[in-house]
Amino acid sequence: MTLKKTISRESIVDYCAHIGANPMLVQGAGGNISWKDDEILWIKASGTWLANAKEKDIFTAVDLFDLQREVRKGNYSVTPKLKRKSLLRPSIETILHALMPHKIVLHIHAIEPLSYLVRADCEQQIKNKITADISWEMVSYQKPGEALAKAVAEKISKAPDTKILLLQNHGIVIGGSDIKEIEKFLTQLLSMLKLQPFLGAFINENPAPILITNGKSYIPVPIPGIHNLAFSHLFKRLRTDWGLYPDHVVFLGPEPICYDSVSLLIEDIEKGNSPELVFLKEIGVYSKPEFSVAKQLQLQCYYEVLIRQPQDVLLHSLDKQQISELIDWEAEKYRQLISK
Ligand SMILES: [Zn+2]
Repeated sequence: MTLKKTISRESIVDYCAHIGANPMLVQGAGGNISWKDDEILWIKASGTWLANAKEKDIFTAVDLFDLQREVRKGNYSVTPKLKRKSLLRPSIETILHALMPHKIVLHIHAIEPLSYLVRADCEQQIKNKITADISWEMVSYQKPGEALAKAVAEKISKAPDTKILLLQNHGIVIGGSDIKEIEKFLTQLLSMLKLQPFLGAFINENPAPILITNGKSYIPVPIPGIHNLAFSHLFKRLRTDWGLYPDHVVFLGPEPICYDSVSLLIEDIEKGNSPELVFLKEIGVYSKPEFSVAKQLQLQCYYEVLIRQPQDVLLHSLDKQQISELIDWEAEKYRQLISK
């Protein structure tokens, strides 16, 4: 007789709060977790923060059996049915969580693995790094939601013992039977894909705010080291390697707004443009005062990923079509609205 193992909600909540507080693992509303409890799939609600798991109810309950039935029929665009009343929507990745065979599924955009996953030859590089006896699969970039769920289903059907999925230009998915197992796999993965920043010295750490004539101002973004993005090869990378993964473009827009001087920024504002985040060459990174914490965390993530790239490494960015699919997506507009 096999004993049915139930997952303690408390263990999940504690773990969410723990990893959610670490910006190297989770950034704002990014990432999600689920657990399967008989006919219910408990999944993080879209736009909520893992970090808030203790203070708020961040989970929604959906009908697992219904999702599994639809997935068996090849339907990856099914709308999850709520099993408990909620004002929140289940995560965009609910179908992916439902089709994974594991009791608990964690999906995050951890900086170090992500720094490999945006490289043009990421698969080969990761193969060289993963030495432990752990079953993992690589999934090529897919739009989150339906397309990603379908690609993951194909991998899982060929390799049902997979514990770790590495999503190109996106992040990682880990499946386990309890939190201890999830924690073990994540720790193993992080130690194999450890990646130190290549950039040590900080440049122009405290640039002055910029006052625009009508009394409005742009303030330096308060993230340690962030102004490095306005200098040398990092400033060039903004233009060539902006759309590296979905959350970055969803929160920070389809392209960077860069200026070679303050006067060019002012000129642009006088023309009626009003960018929220600007990169001023050899000065710093500035935003309007209302630039949200959720966006700051995304910018910090991007910075941490870029400083982990050797200067000559070739990165793989999302193309224009992939970026516009993310920007125009109602589900993402909703998530951004909720996550403020
Ligand atoms: Zn994701």
